[in-house]
Amino acid sequence: AVIETYEKNIVTSPYADCEFHDMTLTQKFFESAARWPDKVALECGLSRRRYTYNTMSQAVRRFGSALTRMGFKKGDVMGVVSPNVPEFPIAVFGSAGAGMPVALVNPAYTPDEIARQMNLVEATALFGVSEMAETLKAVAKLCPTIKRVILFGPNQEGCVSYQEMVQDSAELFNDTIDIDINKDIFILPHSSGTSGLPKNVMLTHSTVGKNVQQYLHPEGTNNQPATATHQETYIGLLPFFHSYGMVGLMLSAVESGAKLVTLPRFDVPSFLQAIDDHQPTYLHLVPPLVSLLTNLPALKAESYSRVHTIFCGAAPLGAPAALKLLERFKNPISFQEAYGLTEMSPGVMMSPLGNKKLGSCGALFSRTKAKVMDLETGERALGPYEDGELFVTGPQVMKGYYKNQKATDEMIGADGWLRTGDVGHYDEDGHFFIVDRLKELIKVKAFQVAPAELEEILTTHPAIKEAAVIGIPDERAGELPRAYIVKKPGMESVSDFDIHAFIDAKVSAHKQIKGGIEFCSSIPRNNMGKILRRELRVQYANNSGK
Ligand code: AMP
Repeated sequence: AVIETYEKNIVTSPYADCEFHDMTLTQKFFESAARWPDKVALECGLSRRRYTYNTMSQAVRRFGSALTRMGFKKGDVMGVVSPNVPEFPIAVFGSAGAGMPVALVNPAYTPDEIARQMNLVEATALFGVSEMAETLKAVAKLCPTIKRVILFGPNQEGCVSYQEMVQDSAELFNDTIDIDINKDIFILPHSSGTSGLPKNVMLTHSTVGKNVQQYLHPEGTNNQPATATHQETYIGLLPFFHSYGMVGLMLSAVESGAKLVTLPRFDVPSFLQAIDDHQPTYLHLVPPLVSLLTNLPALKAESYSRVHTIFCGAAPLGAPAALKLLERFKNPISFQEAYGLTEMSPGVMMSPLGNKKLGSCGALFSRTKAKVMDLETGERALGPYEDGELFVTGPQVMKGYYKNQKATDEMIGADGWLRTGDVGHYDEDGHFFIVDRLKELIKVKAFQVAPAELEEILTTHPAIKEAAVIGIPDERAGELPRAYIVKKPGMESVSDFDIHAFIDAKVSAHKQIKGGIEFCSSIPRNNMGKILRRELRVQYANNSGK
């Protein structure tokens, strides 16, 4: 049993050590694509625009070569700010092959929100779709380092056309670009970590590449590489800008020769239509999508007949919710819940095949270790069934936060253990259960919301003296942000309506304060001035009876 491998309450993986390679993710893509050149790699679920692995490889080479010709060099950052379209992965592999780290931002963000992340990494170019031309041009105005805005779709004044870039058949590509997989950054997604504002997370070719191999460990996945008669089909609804979509969908699809059907926005009819049209073999979900499918009047048996695995992660999902969904299927289905965080590239653990323990996040990935530290002193690694803070380590630990050593040191100890800010325990089989979150982070529909960011914006309102934001439970969204506000003297007439209008204009939809605004006379703080969010959460729970 796994328990024998506990050493001073350090839990190890039940899986044999997986094999790693030493290629960049773009080289790995070319190698993999060459194995199934004629299979469909990417298809837009709305327009039916498709690429085979062969035509995708060609577009990646041409896109990367065009960037090099345009004067971009190794280390220049490319911001990919795009909905899920087939050209998203092409832009990522092409840029990465040209040595450009790819910064990833939610395309639904406001220009100010996008510009904040792009300025932090000094992005030199942006890639997006023509529908976003005005937003991306506004971002470029706010970021002096951005030289070009590249758009897929109809030509837009002042922007570079993706189509023109990939028409040029000169493929100079990347043999001359010397990329060190252990040092050079593949992607820069962002995360607020255990506290504070969103930071850019440095994930190298090595950390992400290894995480793909850990995730696709043959003992732990139903995912089968393509053959003459078989091809996995994924519906790419979860955003590629999030590490779950990037590794769980985009990179795993390529690694196994799957067909990835991309959906550019979340809308229920097109999601269901894509399932009808493509009959996926996998469903990649987050908890709000589990409830969506559970509450549909009927699931068309035919459309779901090929599904062999449902995969769910990125936010807590209770056992009853998983069970309710599974009861709706006629075919036997593996349900795998995964737990991870952007700072771990992102995968840490997932349910084993033949999973019987719904509600558990399963066992550690190959070559990954974890310990649960007591909450009082943080010094004792706890045994089975005792709740504490989860610490993890493995080859997928991030390189650090971009240009933020202090935040990096708070997150990763000198011994290489990363603190997750999550609370949980493991059982006698080494299966984990996440029960709470210590860190400030709020997850709305599985998207990150950093309270510090909302507090910073709120306190720029002329009537607000102090503000504190917490997450409150919500059945549909998982959590919603709720603000506690102390007004400045003489500003008593300012209403919650005024504050909603002020903040709603500045942030994207999932960050809006939909959990309500409460005015109060003071914000609870410790003697260092740190907001005692837990006190506010308890106070809310007591008052609302939740
Ligand atoms: P992100 O970096 O956006 O992926 O967010 C990571 C955080 O999401 C984790 O630290 C957890 O708080 C939460 N999370 C991810 N997966 C799970 C899960 N399966 N169960 C509970 N919480 C999760």
